[in-house]
Amino acid sequence: MNTMISMRIWTDKGQEILYDTENLIFEIEDTFSATRAGTDIYELNANKNNWVALSPSTLEVLAYAKEITASTKGAFNPMVYPLVKAWGFTTSSQQVPSPEEIASILPLVDTTLLSLNEETLQGQVLGGAEVDFGGIAKGYAVDEIATFLEENQVDTALLSLGGNVYTLGKKTDGSLWNIGIQNPYGGGSVGSVAVFDKAIITSGGYQRYFTYEDETYWHIIDPRTGNPAKSGLASVTVISDSGMYGDCLSTALFVMGLEESIAYWNSHQDFDAVFITDEEDIYITEGIADVFTLSKGYSSGSLQVIES
Ligand code: AMP
Ligand code: MG
Repeated sequence: MNTMISMRIWTDKGQEILYDTENLIFEIEDTFSATRAGTDIYELNANKNNWVALSPSTLEVLAYAKEITASTKGAFNPMVYPLVKAWGFTTSSQQVPSPEEIASILPLVDTTLLSLNEETLQGQVLGGAEVDFGGIAKGYAVDEIATFLEENQVDTALLSLGGNVYTLGKKTDGSLWNIGIQNPYGGGSVGSVAVFDKAIITSGGYQRYFTYEDETYWHIIDPRTGNPAKSGLASVTVISDSGMYGDCLSTALFVMGLEESIAYWNSHQDFDAVFITDEEDIYITEGIADVFTLSKGYSSGSLQVIES
């Protein structure tokens, strides 16, 4: 998954369960990777205008991604892959595409170019469209791992897939987990949230970027402009029951910016969030006001609670 993975599992069942969990991650990667031949997503993209056999999990995630695209008015869009490629984020060499190139790609970033058939277990992309699970796969993976662990009578685990955290149960002493929210402007955290049984998922420009002629360009693309999203936010952390929801949303809210994000939160009310702005101010939704602790000595910006 191109990221650091750390899993801490409290169990009396021995190492076995850790290896099974690791295998589950490899399985998900073998199904969802856009860059490795043979995966569902790779084959879907490679066989445009043809129906391609897909596993039920791929169809489930594709259908879910389409729903979120609709509910976020296109801020999250799994069809962003041609743009991700044009900016070079699939490789180690990035570049700034010309406005003409971006304009020619934008019509492909459209979920109506993706057809799904849940009965025959097939999917199809039309024209030059391509799918990318980069914004959703890690959230899906933490949900799958958490479910697998629960099915195997594990009550306590702390999962972290490159900034995508899941807390299963409470700590063994019955207390909550304190999950740090990374400071986008340097090492350490701006604060922490005390939670259990939650996904804590962060999207930030600092996670993957390149600089060219003094400009910074990051991996989260605004599907409406084709350029890296510059919405005034440095990072968004979503705290939710579902990792898949949190993963999609953290990406979407980063694209939307603070104002549109607050409107989305107000109309949905099924998650909490921590926003860090370019001015280094921190905004948290009221549901976590009592469990958020600002790091000692954080004085770069103010802390404000968003109320419904
Ligand atoms: P995340 O780290 O979850 O915010 O996801 C970022 C990754 O998702 C990028 O590396 C791209 O592969 C992909 N991506 C970028 N922009 C978007 C977007 N607006 N909607 C969906 N996926 C995106
Ligand atoms: Mg995401």
